[in-house]
Amino acid sequence: MRNKHNFNPGPAVLPEPVLAECARAVLELNDTGLSLLEISHRSPEFAEIIEEAETRLRQLMNIPDHYHILFLQGGARLQFAMIPMNFLSRGKRAGYVDTGIWASKAIEEAQKIGSVQIVASSKDNNYRHIPRRFSIPSDLAYLHITSNNTIYGTQWWEFPQTGNVPLIADMSSDILSRPIDVQQFAMIYAGAQKNAGTAGVTLVIIRSDLLEQIPSEHLPSMLDYRAHVRARSLFNTPPVFSIYVTAKVLEWIQNQGGVPELFRRNQEKASLIYAVLDSYREIYEPHAAPEDRSIMNITFRLRNERLNDTLLQWCQDAGIVGIKGHRSIGGFRASLYNALPLKSVEVLAEVLKAFAQRYG
Ligand SMILES: *Cc1c(COP(=O)(O)O)cnc(C)c1O
Repeated sequence: MRNKHNFNPGPAVLPEPVLAECARAVLELNDTGLSLLEISHRSPEFAEIIEEAETRLRQLMNIPDHYHILFLQGGARLQFAMIPMNFLSRGKRAGYVDTGIWASKAIEEAQKIGSVQIVASSKDNNYRHIPRRFSIPSDLAYLHITSNNTIYGTQWWEFPQTGNVPLIADMSSDILSRPIDVQQFAMIYAGAQKNAGTAGVTLVIIRSDLLEQIPSEHLPSMLDYRAHVRARSLFNTPPVFSIYVTAKVLEWIQNQGGVPELFRRNQEKASLIYAVLDSYREIYEPHAAPEDRSIMNITFRLRNERLNDTLLQWCQDAGIVGIKGHRSIGGFRASLYNALPLKSVEVLAEVLKAFAQRYG
């Protein structure tokens, strides 16, 4: 029985009908007489699945034809390394904005490959805000940002204007949660396990002219975007199951009314929780600066941290799971991804309110 309210930060909640369809496909894919897990990745059946995933993603995000869509492995974290390996050629510098743990891990990887300039950082105030005014040198190989900071609970609401510098974004925790203009970006990537499916596949959206910047010498093929583009994500055996889950999640999003409708719901869900936190400031201390608040991951602490275990117990009693904060900032984090039903958010809001009234 799936009877929990799942606030896990990732892997995260999936839509019920998607789970049902995946379960059926594991037993038998359509009328093939085979399990989804038994088919060849070169079969017409899988060709249809990966094409479906690509088409739906293109439709949902309005991705123009001059962007390639790739389904890669290794998680978002392999992208931290592949990006500089492919685009940070000798004699160049890459720009990074440090807005949290994932951003700084991306920076660490790039520093192993080449020269990095941190053009802005919010580390000094414990990543409570998104840096605003900063300058972007025009000779950067690219500028890397993290559109939603899963651990600290901040989100970019206005993306930097980078002129001719290619803008690359890690959207692992907010892809498909709000409308964005893909054409502001040279590349977008996202591990699927938060808003777009299950672990094992990473979505990569990459503008074709960026590929021309890749120096031709000695990149291992698996780490070379061009190899994956040429092979249309079938350079090696792709994660067939994870791609199937993504195709079904994308179909579910379309059936819900697409990204604008999910954005409306996500705003509604987030505002229910923020409203309670803001009404009981003597109990709760939200982490993010109000103008940079994430609608995907809501982070807060109790002013009296001795009550942490009590609140966790209240949540557990209400069937709420996954709201303990990341060990690096402590406190609590409620992740409200696309597939989390409004009902679950209402339950959490009620618990937070009742808790504040009892201990306030
Ligand atoms: C979860 C997360 C990652 C790590 O993703 P993996 O797929 O586990 O490598 C990277 N960036 C952000 C913003 C994340 O939320």
